[in-house]
Amino acid sequence: MHSNQYSVTEVKQIINAGGNIVKEYTISTLLTDSRRINNAAEGLFFALSARRNGHEFVAEAYAAGIRNFVVQHGPEFNLPEANFLLVDSPLAALQILAAYHRSQFKLQVIGITGSNGKTIVKEWLYQLLAADKNIVRNPKSYNSQIGVPLSVWQINGRNDLGIFEAGISTINEMDKLQAIIKPQIGILTHIGSAHDEGFTSRREKVLEKLQLFKNSKQLIYHYDELLDYKKDIPVKETFTWSRKFKVADLYVFSETVISKKYYLRAYYHKKEIECLIPFSDQASIENAITCWAAMLALGYSAVEADKRIERLAPVSMRLELKNGVSNCSVIDDSYNSDLQSLEIALNFLGQQNQHQKKTLILSDILQSGLQQDVLYCQVANLIGTQRIDKFIGVGDALINNQTCFNLPEQHFFKDTPALLQQLKTIGFKDETILIKGSRSFEFERISNALTQKAHETIMEINLNTLLGNLNFYRSKLKPGVKVMAMVKAFSYGSGTFEVANMLQYNKVDYLAVAYIDEGVALRQAGINLPIMVLNPEASAFDKLTENKLQPVIYSFGLLDDFVIYTQERGIVNYPVHLKIDTGMHRLGFENLDIETLCDMLEQNRYVHIQSVFSHLVASEAPEHDEFTKKQIKRFEKAFKEIEKTLGYKVIKHLCNTSGITRWPSAHYDMVRLGIGLYGVDSAVPASDNALQPIASLKTSVAQVKKIGAGDTISYGRSGSLLKDGKIATVRIGYADGYLRAFGKGVGKMLVKGTLVPTVGNITMDMCMLDVSGLDVNEGDEVIVFNDQLRIEELARQIGTIPYEILTNVSQRVKRVYFYE
Ligand SMILES: *Cc1c(COP(=O)(O)O)cnc(C)c1O
Repeated sequence: MHSNQYSVTEVKQIINAGGNIVKEYTISTLLTDSRRINNAAEGLFFALSARRNGHEFVAEAYAAGIRNFVVQHGPEFNLPEANFLLVDSPLAALQILAAYHRSQFKLQVIGITGSNGKTIVKEWLYQLLAADKNIVRNPKSYNSQIGVPLSVWQINGRNDLGIFEAGISTINEMDKLQAIIKPQIGILTHIGSAHDEGFTSRREKVLEKLQLFKNSKQLIYHYDELLDYKKDIPVKETFTWSRKFKVADLYVFSETVISKKYYLRAYYHKKEIECLIPFSDQASIENAITCWAAMLALGYSAVEADKRIERLAPVSMRLELKNGVSNCSVIDDSYNSDLQSLEIALNFLGQQNQHQKKTLILSDILQSGLQQDVLYCQVANLIGTQRIDKFIGVGDALINNQTCFNLPEQHFFKDTPALLQQLKTIGFKDETILIKGSRSFEFERISNALTQKAHETIMEINLNTLLGNLNFYRSKLKPGVKVMAMVKAFSYGSGTFEVANMLQYNKVDYLAVAYIDEGVALRQAGINLPIMVLNPEASAFDKLTENKLQPVIYSFGLLDDFVIYTQERGIVNYPVHLKIDTGMHRLGFENLDIETLCDMLEQNRYVHIQSVFSHLVASEAPEHDEFTKKQIKRFEKAFKEIEKTLGYKVIKHLCNTSGITRWPSAHYDMVRLGIGLYGVDSAVPASDNALQPIASLKTSVAQVKKIGAGDTISYGRSGSLLKDGKIATVRIGYADGYLRAFGKGVGKMLVKGTLVPTVGNITMDMCMLDVSGLDVNEGDEVIVFNDQLRIEELARQIGTIPYEILTNVSQRVKRVYFYE
C-alpha cells in the first residue's frame, strides 16, 4: 500500500515532466499558494496561472523553504538546490499526479455533484457513516479543478471510504475531475440555476455533470430531476427518490412538521418506512432525503438510517470573526476539526494583525485516519507555521501527545467543562483567539464565554464575497494597473481592520481613508499597506507622519501648511498625493492653478509627489459621458504638466467603481475601488451575478401582537391595518440606521422569505411590521437587507443611494465576519 510520499524523481515520471533533478527530495505536500506554505521540506509547489501568474511567486516560495517546483518555464533566476519540473500545464500536472495517487488505492469512493447541496450532503454523509468507516473527504468545499486534486491527494492507506464532491462552472471540466475521483458510487444533488451562465443551456450543464458518473456502478438521485435525461444517465444501477413518482426506489408520500423537526414517511421495497429530520427548511430536507436514499442504497437498514439521520447536526463551513471580551478578537470555528480545515483556520488567524498575541484553542481531532503520534506531530508542525503565543489543548489525545508541542504558553485540559472552569485563571486580553474544535467537544460554549453578547441586530460581512468582488474588478484591469481600496467611513460601514486585513493579505496596493484618525486606527491594527488620507487636518500632522500616512494635498493653503511642517522638522521627500478638481468642485486644484502649483513644486524637496488624481462626478451615467470625457481631458492636461515639472513619474489615477467598469481607457496606473468592493455597482446589472453584496443586516422579532381593524400603531398613531391582523415588533430603529423614512409602509423586510411592510413610524430602537397571515414567532430572524433584498432596493424605497444605506448602519450594530 502506498503512503502519500513520493520521491521527486517518481513525481517527475508520473507527470512526464522535463527538467533536471539536481537533488533528491521526498514529496508529501502539494502547494499552490505561496502565502500558505507548510511542511516546506517535503512540499511541491505548482506555479498555477490564475489572475496572477504563479511563476511570480516561485522566489517567495523558495524563500519559505520550498525546493521542488512544477513550472511551465524557468527558473529565470538562480535558485540552487531547487528542482524545476517543466510541464506544459502545471494545473494538468497537478491533476495527473492526484489521479495517479488515487489509482494506488482500492478504497470505495462516493462522488457527489449537483448545483446546490454538494458540501452539505458530503458533510452529512460523513457524519452518518463515520461510525463504521475511516473516511477521507474534501476539506470544506474544495471542489474545483484545483480543490479536487488537493483533496484526493489526502487519501492514505487507512481510509476505506472517500467522499468527494466535484464542482464545475463550464463545459469540459468534469472529465478531468472524474479521472481524479473515479467514484464507484455517484450522488447527484439538487440541480438549480447556479453556474447556468457558464453553459449554453441547462441541458448542457446537466450532461456535463453526469460525466462524473460515467464509470460508476451506481447512481443515487432525485427521480424528478432527470425525467428528461433518462437516455443520458451513464449508469446502469440507479437508486432514486421522489415525492411524486411511485416508481422511485424511495417514494416519500407524507411530510409533517413536528415541533421544528420534519417527519417523513415513504415506501421502500414495498414496505412503509419513516425518518425524522432535525431541520425544517426545504433545502435541508432535500439534502437529508438524498442522504437517506444514499444510506439505504449503501445497504443500511431503514431503522439504522432513521436513527442516525435524526442526529444530523448543521454544517458550518464558515469561520466567524467576532469581537471578544477584554478587547480580544475571536475566530469561531467550533463545528469541525481536521488537519485541512485547521490549516485554513490557522492561515486566517495568521492574516489577522489587530493584536500582537495569538492564541489557539484546539480539541482532539477525531477520525483523521492517522496514528495519534503522527497526527499530533503534524498538528504541531502546522501550528509552527504561524506565530502562536498561547496554545490550549482539550481532550485525552492531546494530553497524551503534549510532548509534540512546544509553545511559549500552553495548557491542556481533559474536556470542555474542565477548560471552562479555568477560563478566568488563564486570562485573555488583547489577543486574537482561534477556537477550533470537533463538534462533540461543544466548543460553542467556549465561544459564548469569550465573545461579547451581541445586540440581536447584527450585520454579517462575508469576506469571501469581498474577495470575489475585488477579483471581479481586478479581471477588468490591464496587468500592472494598481488597486487602491477605499476603506473610508469604516469601509463603507463594513468594518475596519477586518476588511483591511483581508485586502492586505490579498495584496491590494493602496488603502484610502477620509481622515487621519481612520488611518491611525488601521496602523494600530497592524496594517502596513500605504494609506492615503483624503482629508488631512493640519492639527493632526504629527499623527499623520508618526503613522506613515500619506496626505492628499488639495489646496495651496494645505500645501503651505504641510511644507512648513516638514521643513521645521527636517523631513524631506514626504510622500503626498495631489488632487486635481476636474469638475466635481469639492476639493482640489483647478486647471487654472496648475501653473502656480508647478512653480511651488519645482525644487521642493520636502514633499515627494506619489500620485496625481482626480475624481469623476458621473462615471456611471451615460447621459453625462460627454462631461466625463471633458474631465479626462482636463486630468491629462494637469498630470502632464506636473510630471514635466517634477521630472519624475507619478502614479496617475482617476476611476472610481463605475469608472473601472465603464471607462477602461481611463484606468491609467491605478484605480480607486469603493462601493464595488462591497457589492454595489450601478454599471453592473445584478442579473450578471458578477458582484455580490458582502453585507447582510439581520434583526429579530421581539414580540407579536394581534391588532384589530380600528387600532393604531406607533407614535402619533401613525399606523393601522385595514383588517384585523398581526404585527411583529422587531429590534431595529433609526438609531441603528434604519431611517425614519422607511416608516408607514415605505420600507419592507423579509420574514421567512416573505416581504412585509413596516407599519407606523419607525421608533428609535424598534419598528413594527405587518405580518398578518404569516406564521411568525418571537425570536424569528428578520432580514433588513442581504443578497435577496438588496441595498439598491432599500435606497430606491426612500429615494437615496446605496452608499447612504450602507454607511448609515450604526456602530451599535455588531459586525460579524464570515470566511470560508
Ligand atoms: C469614495 C471615493 C472613491 C470611491 O468611489 P466609489 O464610487 O465608491 O467607487 C474614489 N475616489 C475618491 C476620491 C473618493 O472619495
